[in-house]
Amino acid sequence: MKAILTKTDFNNHYYIARKSKLIGYLHPEIYKYFQNTESDIISTQNPKYSQFKSDEKYYERKYNFLKEHILSNETKEINNCTRRIEEVHIKDGLDNIEQVVFEVTSSCNLKCRYCAYGEFYSYTHTQENRNMDFSTAKTVVDFFVRRFNTPDNKSFKGTTFISFYGGEPLLNMGLIKKIIEYIKGLEVNRNFIFSMTTNGVLLMKHIDFLVDNSVRLLISLDGDNEGNQYRVDRLGLNSFPVIISNVKLIKEKYPDFFKEYVNFIAVLHNKNSVESIMYFFKKNFDKVPMIAPLNTSGILPEKTEEFKNIYHDYIDSINRSNNPNRIVTELGAKSPEIRDTFIFCKQYGGTFFEDYSELFSNNATLFPTGTCFPFGRKMFIATDGSIHTCEKIDYRYSFGSVIDKTIRLNSKFIVETFNRYLDNISKSCSSCYMLESCPHCLYLIDDIENENAKCPGYLNYEDFSKKCSTILSRLEKNREMFNEIVNDIIFV
Ligand code: SF4
Ligand code: SF4
Repeated sequence: MKAILTKTDFNNHYYIARKSKLIGYLHPEIYKYFQNTESDIISTQNPKYSQFKSDEKYYERKYNFLKEHILSNETKEINNCTRRIEEVHIKDGLDNIEQVVFEVTSSCNLKCRYCAYGEFYSYTHTQENRNMDFSTAKTVVDFFVRRFNTPDNKSFKGTTFISFYGGEPLLNMGLIKKIIEYIKGLEVNRNFIFSMTTNGVLLMKHIDFLVDNSVRLLISLDGDNEGNQYRVDRLGLNSFPVIISNVKLIKEKYPDFFKEYVNFIAVLHNKNSVESIMYFFKKNFDKVPMIAPLNTSGILPEKTEEFKNIYHDYIDSINRSNNPNRIVTELGAKSPEIRDTFIFCKQYGGTFFEDYSELFSNNATLFPTGTCFPFGRKMFIATDGSIHTCEKIDYRYSFGSVIDKTIRLNSKFIVETFNRYLDNISKSCSSCYMLESCPHCLYLIDDIENENAKCPGYLNYEDFSKKCSTILSRLEKNREMFNEIVNDIIFV
């Protein structure tokens, strides 16, 4: 490991000290010293550096200070990523859960070509066309209510999202209604916010209830008719005409609800682009949608070539647009570029610390990867009652289940399994320059169950230096962005 030196598109040089969490601009006079020496503490008395004039003593002192006090921390051979979770982390997550996601049904009334349970992926899934029953959902709600009412719940009057997921959740609206009514009748120190990801086909049938209960809707729609052509029904017909008509009716009938509680998520592929998606939603609904690239993990080997044909890279799509800067600005926190830049500023701006210990030591041990702890953010319950840490990951990583009105979770097993995966990837992470700002989830690394799992996001010195150059060039080009990121943007 060594300190990162990088040059921006505007020929400015910077150092990035990962351990000290600092980025610094290198004055050209100081940078000269870096060109002349790899690691020496230098002196203009030394004949080797005689080309530096004595009036440059000021920069010489600065260079030596930098080497001695900031960059000297960067010389450790490997990252110390030996940190592992303990049972207390699981308990803490459960006592303060932020989101509970119910897969209320695994049935769906569409057959989207790129669906995670469709033709491209090897994901294991629970039994098809299965509905969750109320007893399972009630057992989960009661489990959390007991925890919210204990002193271990540190977030008095905090908020928990109750989210409905599928399949297509509106196909089991009976259960959703029962869960919402049940939760509204509870006495508990907790605010609940209801939310749902839906394909929108059945929206008009249930919209009155959804509006009455302020259920936040995330509607899947890939832009205009052309862009939406992979979202087809069972007969292979584009679902666009039905969805757009429903959405327009909601906008007309419930304008305030539409403005505040309705948003969109579009999948990026070869039939649309970030620009066409943005244009469509801005023009029709004055909204900025979430845009997600296709999931690249778990692709069946025999489908790799076909998948490559429909996959489109997010940044590439932005760069191909007519006005990339405008798109990035409009996307704001939803832009991967801004998100990347935010993480970079947070990590190396010298003002953000994960906990108190980081204030006093720059040798903190780190967790490999950027994965959240099991239940650190959410719990996902599948229709069959199996319990998972998140809806985005393969069903085989189940941590427990709801059986006979009881939640069966074995913290010891969860800790051991999670730590084993951390062990498997730690060889990659220990020499990776991304560790402090890693966005990767271990469950999305295909061979995580192998002892020497390989991460596709691994960055060596040169690659990380290039990444820093891209981000710093972006900030130099758009100086307002830094202020916006620090002051205005809230990431969730
Ligand atoms: S994808 Fe991984 S890191 Fe992201 S919320 Fe799910 S479990 Fe956590
Ligand atoms: S990018 Fe991959 S190898 Fe690097 S720290 Fe993250 S998970 Fe580890």
